[in-house]
Amino acid sequence: MQITFWGVRGSYPVPGAATVRYGGQTSCVEARTAHGECLIVDAGTGLRALGNKLVRESGGAPGHYHVLLSHVHWDHIQGLPFFSPAYIPGTRISVYALLTAADELNQVIGGITRHEFFPMPLEAVPAQFEFHQVEPAVMLSIEGFKVVPIALNHPFGSVGYRIEADGSSWAYVSDTAPFTEVLHKQHFLSGPEPLSAGDRTALTAMREALMKQLRGVDTVVYDTHFLPEEYARFPHYGHSTPDQALDICVEAGARRLVLYHHAPSHGDDQMDQIAAAYLAKGAAVGIEVLTSFEGMTLPIGPEKAPPGPSSRPRRVTL
Ligand SMILES: [Zn+2]
Ligand SMILES: [Zn+2]
Repeated sequence: MQITFWGVRGSYPVPGAATVRYGGQTSCVEARTAHGECLIVDAGTGLRALGNKLVRESGGAPGHYHVLLSHVHWDHIQGLPFFSPAYIPGTRISVYALLTAADELNQVIGGITRHEFFPMPLEAVPAQFEFHQVEPAVMLSIEGFKVVPIALNHPFGSVGYRIEADGSSWAYVSDTAPFTEVLHKQHFLSGPEPLSAGDRTALTAMREALMKQLRGVDTVVYDTHFLPEEYARFPHYGHSTPDQALDICVEAGARRLVLYHHAPSHGDDQMDQIAAAYLAKGAAVGIEVLTSFEGMTLPIGPEKAPPGPSSRPRRVTL
């Protein structure tokens, strides 16, 4: 299996001179099996270029695409209306997300394509959209992939995924705060409230369930939006730091951590500094730490495989 990053930013797109090397598009990762089966994780603005590539590959023939969503914040769904396979008649697009009802997801995606906001409403799009609700810890089989959803700690909820194929595994963990601060609550104005005993128990259980799914995976892609000093100012924004992600990976025995969901304010020069600092911090504790950039493709190794030349990232043309 291999994964390719099509969007690595959190919050909103930031194309421009300061983000040429790491990229300015929002969350989107493509996983591929050795047989060419494709799974898309999150549908931020990075999805647009991925859709164009998929249409080139298929020669414009209809296909069946699978999109796992972490949650429906804008930076994870904004690429969907611009996903070019959706405009090919006969195409099926299966969208998976954590919601109490698939109907609600249909309403969200249908809502952002209402005629006031977008020229073509969802019901007029030629492709057939199917919405599926996922449940934490309940495994899904999607083509050659085995996928286990993982509940995360984010305002109104988010879900990560452990993804297995070809005897290799990786995990997508975005968006999430550490398991000490917020619990599916919105605190932007008031700041975090003191946690109740029930909240603390729920957070501990959530962290344990995450650790169980991450145990021994080759690669963990993690929400590392904030630097520690930024996190201290915004602990209730639902995101983590590279240090928190590194602790999780060490405890899980993962081989590699990929920093992801970069803050829009971090330009290329600062990203270089972050990448170098955490490569060294990771090396000190036996974890290979890479910093994702648009176009980065990573081969996913077998569980607990030692790092080798085949694990080096390369850049693809988007
Ligand atoms: Zn996000
Ligand atoms: Zn979010």
